[in-house]
Amino acid sequence: MKLILLGAAGSGKGTMAKKIAADFNVPQISTGDMFREIAKKGGELGEKVKSLMESGALVPNEITFEVLKQRLKQKDCKKGFILDGFPRSLAQAEMLQKLTDIDAVISIELPFKQLEQRLVSRRICPKCGDIDNASYQGYTGNCRKCGTKLFQRDDDKPEAIKARLEVYKKDVTPLIDFYGEKVMTVSSAGSPDETYAPVKTFLSKLEAKA
Ligand code: ADP
Ligand code: ZN
Repeated sequence: MKLILLGAAGSGKGTMAKKIAADFNVPQISTGDMFREIAKKGGELGEKVKSLMESGALVPNEITFEVLKQRLKQKDCKKGFILDGFPRSLAQAEMLQKLTDIDAVISIELPFKQLEQRLVSRRICPKCGDIDNASYQGYTGNCRKCGTKLFQRDDDKPEAIKARLEVYKKDVTPLIDFYGEKVMTVSSAGSPDETYAPVKTFLSKLEAKA
């Protein structure tokens, strides 16, 4: 199954991608994670990607597409994949279309106000990367896993959040139109399990049809 996962920051997209990847035995392909790896490796490309990411800019389409293309050629993608973070624009969707057909698009949706609320209270552990939320019961300000003092990402501050969510909405709306009937929309207002249940049913049916 070749899948695309859409969802704004704070929608729980990463969590959903992991559940789908595990249940349907497809690799989760996150362009964000790939670029962080490339940035870590350094070199000419690494340095370039690093400075773009740090400034909050997107990586140019040509580079993004080349990286993705190489990844999709690998053996583990033969039976399918779940794309997380790509496509991010209509231009990227059109590039992908030339490479392969997509079976379904899962779009995780949550009202703006709720996304904002989740993001402003999101806290990160600088040591182990665990993500916690200051609005959860039992929140102490220290990491649940390793005890380190948690911090707030700069782009999780209110002014930055608003800008990010607006960019997301502007970019993703044309994608929903582009994929038309292939799109399954799900609300993530409930718990991760509640969000995942209808997705699992939908994908199981899709898998049975194939
Ligand atoms: P975020 O949700 O904070 O943007 P991601 O992990 O999705 O985090 O991506 C991190 C960075 O990687 C982005 O800010 C961007 O620079 C780059 N990136 C990820 N996916 C794409 C893409 N599809 N096109 C261009 N750049 C991308
Ligand atoms: Zn920690």
